[in-house]
Amino acid sequence: MAVRFAPSPTGDLHLGHAYSALLNWQVAQTTHVPFLLRHEDIDASRVRAQFYTRIEEDLAWLGLEWPKPARRQSGHLDVYRARLDTLATLGVAYPCAKTRKDVAEAADSAPQLGSEGAAPLLERPSQSDIADTLHNGAAYAWRFDPRVASDLLGAQRPVFEEYGRGTMTADPFRLGSVILGRKDAPASYHVCVVHDDAEQAITEVIRGEDLANSTHLHVVLQALLGLPTPTYRHHRLITDAQGKRLAKRDDAASLRSLKDAGATPASIAAMLGLDPV
Ligand code: GLU
Repeated sequence: MAVRFAPSPTGDLHLGHAYSALLNWQVAQTTHVPFLLRHEDIDASRVRAQFYTRIEEDLAWLGLEWPKPARRQSGHLDVYRARLDTLATLGVAYPCAKTRKDVAEAADSAPQLGSEGAAPLLERPSQSDIADTLHNGAAYAWRFDPRVASDLLGAQRPVFEEYGRGTMTADPFRLGSVILGRKDAPASYHVCVVHDDAEQAITEVIRGEDLANSTHLHVVLQALLGLPTPTYRHHRLITDAQGKRLAKRDDAASLRSLKDAGATPASIAAMLGLDPV
């Protein structure tokens, strides 16, 4: 049993990250489970080495502790690849050579299945197109096929408990034909996160509302891979004075800038409407 905070080492932590980390910390304290840190660093083109340390320094400054060393996804690429292989064997992941432009055009005329607001679905290529894609040497991605997932799951759709919303039925169509891996990369965020949450025995996933749709896919992948489903809590996103969601490039809201301007861990918690650590 555990909770986790899972940033990507691509920039400094800002107030939004602090909110997520502190909420996880509070739940860890009140339910007496470990608080884990996980570096989600599979996108080598965006990761910068200095941010592993800077993230850990900022979390320690806030007063948080976790078992060390923190897990780094980049050290487990083989297991993510194996998970993707399983999904490919099930027919749930298929190779697709469509470019971004092809996808945008196809999405315009693609059917929308599943619940309202679900992303559009791409037509699945024929077996001979798939064989060409695999063997002609060009780049391709592994895409999720919600139709196959839906058939495999049958009438018994997996469910999850969502804080504040109750029991939810996972909708395999919610993210449409989303990418699960690339020819030249082990797997996408979705596959890694589902594997790691099981591997690290995460019992409650606490993360931003922006990932609420992804949760539907994650619960479907857990059912297909025979992994346990944690409970989920999606928290509000912290915005700037103009109401715009904070991004890594908003230096003014980084914990370091706030600290330099005189903020303390207690004032950060107060700014976020949370109890001090
Ligand atoms: N690595 C993701 C992010 O930084 C968080 C993923 C998660 O909590 O599931 O947005």
